[in-house]
Amino acid sequence: MSSKYPFAIGVTRLRKEPAWVMNFDLSGAIADLKVASSYVMDDQLIDVAGTAEWVHGGILITGKISTQWEGECRRCLGPTSGSLQISFRELYERVEPGGELAGEGDTYPYSGDIIDVGEMVKDQVLLELPLAPLCKDECKGLCVSCGSDQNLGDCGCVETEIDPRWQALDILVDKDR
Ligand SMILES: [Zn+2]
Ligand SMILES: [Zn+2]
Repeated sequence: MSSKYPFAIGVTRLRKEPAWVMNFDLSGAIADLKVASSYVMDDQLIDVAGTAEWVHGGILITGKISTQWEGECRRCLGPTSGSLQISFRELYERVEPGGELAGEGDTYPYSGDIIDVGEMVKDQVLLELPLAPLCKDECKGLCVSCGSDQNLGDCGCVETEIDPRWQALDILVDKDR
């Protein structure tokens, strides 16, 4: 069942027992994961599994994000899809509720006893979504003349295409007129 904070990790015990390494396995959906030509469906589950451990300076969260994306082939504009497997390792620094991180480091803030890794998961997926996906490596794309999908067969435009040498002659003919 969907929860409002599917990526929240309770770290109370972790802060009390610094030597403990906690395993987590979360799953949820995130809306608006979209770049130019690919996106993760709003109801697509994103799996996040890994470990949380107390380290000097905060809580280190290490793990893997897995999900599926959909998009539009950059050559034929047809539907295309794929999967993402992203490894991550991020440090969460504790701040006062509503507080900000002091430095500009590459860390994420958390307050209280809960770390919500949702924002981090969102950042990671947005970085990994393909900007120019292909439906297949050998996609032939669309015909520049008639716009038909070349993967479905030859549209015949190649034969009617004007040879550039003849095109030059046409210009000469025009001049003579
Ligand atoms: Zn294609
Ligand atoms: Zn054509």
